[in-house]
Amino acid sequence: MNKIYLDHAATTPVAPEVFKAMEPYLTQFYGNPSSIYSIAQKAAMAVSEAREKVAALIGADDEREIIFTSGGTEADNLAIKGAAMALQNKGKHIITSKIEHHAVLHTCEYLEKYLGFDITYLDVDDEGFVSPESVAEAIREDTILVTIMMANNEIGTIEPIKEIGEIVEKHDIYFHTDAVQAVGQIPVDVNELKVDLLSLSAHKFNGPKGVGALYIRKGTRIVPQISGGAQERKRRAGTENVPGIVGLGKAAEIAGEKLESKAEEVSRLRDKLIQGIEEKINEVVLNGPRGKDRLPNNVNFCFRYVEGESILLNLDMLGIAASSGSACTSGSLDPSHVLLAIGRPHETAHGSLRLTLGLDNTEEDIDYLLEVLPGIIQKLRDMSPLYEG
Ligand code: PLP
Repeated sequence: MNKIYLDHAATTPVAPEVFKAMEPYLTQFYGNPSSIYSIAQKAAMAVSEAREKVAALIGADDEREIIFTSGGTEADNLAIKGAAMALQNKGKHIITSKIEHHAVLHTCEYLEKYLGFDITYLDVDDEGFVSPESVAEAIREDTILVTIMMANNEIGTIEPIKEIGEIVEKHDIYFHTDAVQAVGQIPVDVNELKVDLLSLSAHKFNGPKGVGALYIRKGTRIVPQISGGAQERKRRAGTENVPGIVGLGKAAEIAGEKLESKAEEVSRLRDKLIQGIEEKINEVVLNGPRGKDRLPNNVNFCFRYVEGESILLNLDMLGIAASSGSACTSGSLDPSHVLLAIGRPHETAHGSLRLTLGLDNTEEDIDYLLEVLPGIIQKLRDMSPLYEG
């Protein structure tokens, strides 16, 4: 078993209060929210309360702007395919960036391949920032949607969404942001950011897996992607995942209350970790920016002359759970598209280690990691024919 969990960007443990809030909707109030008897109506009321809590966390004016989904991936699909299909008579051009999560990138590629859309994939700078000017320059007559992530899941870059929102607002274009890594870590306000569509996912902030939401600003046209019953105001069919939705609502409530204190505590540990690694290990390069434009919980380094996977196996043997990139690309031998987009050469990109912090991490966890990591890297470098010491 892992004693120290440092992979909170992949997923987080369900908070005990969240688990407690969910339980009655699995055992007692298991009715279908569309039915009329009381155990069903109790479930319907819980869904409605959760909707209010999620709306409050992201500053939505009306809880009816929240549509529950099966997670961040579905929210991204619904936003992008839904907007593309609704607006295709107006134009077929979409703007995104090269460092989006695959839930966005592969959805854009799908539209390109099967439905004849034209996608612009914007470059980023060496810290992973999308420049608002590049968005302005890419906008064309036939552009219908801009989709840029709020914070990157691998290197923690917080994108200038508000500035991009101001540019997009001047045109008759929808603006979507994948805020899956941002919600619960940093303040998110849909009105301040000027977004029309925003994706979030419960399991990234101590809620359950398999549930998320898409914020759809009032008046934004979306073609549903799942057909069936009239749930979610006909925008997402299927019997609601009531316990999951209740868990998402509770996690959103707690995230709102703890946002500031969590960011403060976690970023302190983040900075200690970054400083410790840079002091103790040579030939390392930090991926992503430093300071306030980096997610408070994210650390990502490339260690030259070593393979990320080998570091992970060695850490696991010592009880530490970490990642070499995003959970979805682990297992593939291709280097991360994000690290390549910020200009890391292939060999360097292969030696990446992502450490992402959460509420359950302590100072001792960081001390332990800093104690064992230099030895692991040295051992692996000693075995590398490329390393000359
Ligand atoms: N978008 C980003 C930025 C993510 O980090 C993730 C998950 O890692 C997703 C989307 C997909 O979310 P989910 O796991 O809820 O489908």
